[in-house]
Amino acid sequence: MMRISNYINGQFVAPINGQYLKNINPANKKMIGEIPDSDHQDIARAMAAAESAFPAWSKTTVSKRSRLLRKIGELILQNSEELALAETRDTGKPISLASTVDIPRSSTNFCFFADAITQFSGASYTTDEQAINYTLRQPLGVVGCISPWNLPLYLFTWKIAPALAAGNTVVAKPSEVTPTTAFLLAKICNQAGLPNGVLNIVHGFGAKVGEPLVKHPRIKAISFTGSTIVGKSIAALAAPDLKKISLEMGGKNPTIIFNDCNFKEAIKTTLLSTFSNQGQICLCGSRIFVEKDIYKKFKTELVSKIEQIKIGNPENIETEYGAMVSQVHFEKVKNYIKQAKVLGGTILTGGTTDQETGYFITPTLIEGLDQNCPLNQEEIFGPVATIQPFETEEEVIQWANSTQYGLAGSIWTENITRAQKMAREIQAGLLWINTWMLRDLRTPFGGVKNSGYGREGGDEALRFFTEIKNICIKG
Ligand code: NAD
Repeated sequence: MMRISNYINGQFVAPINGQYLKNINPANKKMIGEIPDSDHQDIARAMAAAESAFPAWSKTTVSKRSRLLRKIGELILQNSEELALAETRDTGKPISLASTVDIPRSSTNFCFFADAITQFSGASYTTDEQAINYTLRQPLGVVGCISPWNLPLYLFTWKIAPALAAGNTVVAKPSEVTPTTAFLLAKICNQAGLPNGVLNIVHGFGAKVGEPLVKHPRIKAISFTGSTIVGKSIAALAAPDLKKISLEMGGKNPTIIFNDCNFKEAIKTTLLSTFSNQGQICLCGSRIFVEKDIYKKFKTELVSKIEQIKIGNPENIETEYGAMVSQVHFEKVKNYIKQAKVLGGTILTGGTTDQETGYFITPTLIEGLDQNCPLNQEEIFGPVATIQPFETEEEVIQWANSTQYGLAGSIWTENITRAQKMAREIQAGLLWINTWMLRDLRTPFGGVKNSGYGREGGDEALRFFTEIKNICIKG
């Protein structure tokens, strides 16, 4: 059993109120350990530490910051076995995924921003012969990073690395559902020699830890990834003090398959884009639209491939598909399947649950549902997708854009003119043509509509975590 501590001012400390929450492995329902049930007092303590560390950290040379970040990235890789196992036990995701995606990418996040900060600079503008203007990019101060449970260390480091690289100090709150890798990261940062107070991690519930962090009068910015409902409440809390915020929120992403696609690739990738991490990736497609003349063939082939997915104990290296992250989430996803039946949907495959061993739901594909029904409009964030035939480009564009969300999408066609038209018309922050989840970390990442605002990735993240100042010199 692991008892997790908060990490404040370089020390591993108990929550001030002495309270702890249980941490459960969702694949076997066993208690893994305990996590601090922290509150506003711990946030105040973390803020004080981050504020005292800021002057020195913000003046630390870029090359020194870069070296420290790289060291953290390297140590993540060196500890990847322990981190991957912890991620699997907290989330229920297959160890094969944790060890090939979550942990390597967390390391890359640090190494990438260790490099990116050395290339990040201001601009200069010469005004005839009268003056020169130049811009300074300066760190904001203490910033808050709040992350979700689906890709715990991956998304936690995606925020922390650019925030630190840019010279800010950080108070971070990982999800209370998946706290372990954030705790292990704190140990790594200590080992790497990150100065005390530069990164502070406070564990606990959103309402008791996240809210006081957002409301703290001296927090300069909040980078949030999570649900739309919480993101909106953060926007409201941050508004009175005009705090800078970046919101990466939910999605209801379309996968659009035209009859001229590379059929084999489209099937293979759609399987992954729909059910990777048990459908619990914000970028997963959950509405599959297939051109009418290949609909039957595509549907039959996809169902057959879904039924071959190896479901089981996530700690087994052969397992491709594990458990839902928690009982709460399991119940939510199960209810959508129930609703689908009531609404007249046909479950083509899946739809079964196993609560005996852990919180398992089989990958589920449903047809015959109306565009406006909750399963086609609301984010389920699980292994439940709908499939539907379309006849024209106009029709599928309208359906794809018919939800409140606009995060991502994938389009499958060999016709480049059509691909470009779709790329212009689909309302989303990122679109993949003939692929999915192929990421270049320099590119902007984020959504439109109720999927959020602000962008992460490359210079966009460094711009968010800095303030720009213009200086004009006459002479
Ligand atoms: P969530 O919104 O419930 O929680 C996210 C984080 O916010 C957690 O750390 C939580 O404790 C904290 N939080 C909760 N209430 C808070 C409050 N009132 N004030 C401040 N912080 C609070 O989301 P989740 O269930 O952990 O994650 C799933 C959601 O995350 C899905 O909607 C998914 O689409 C989204 N997500 C989005 C992206 C993206 O990049 N757009 C990536 C991954 C996940």
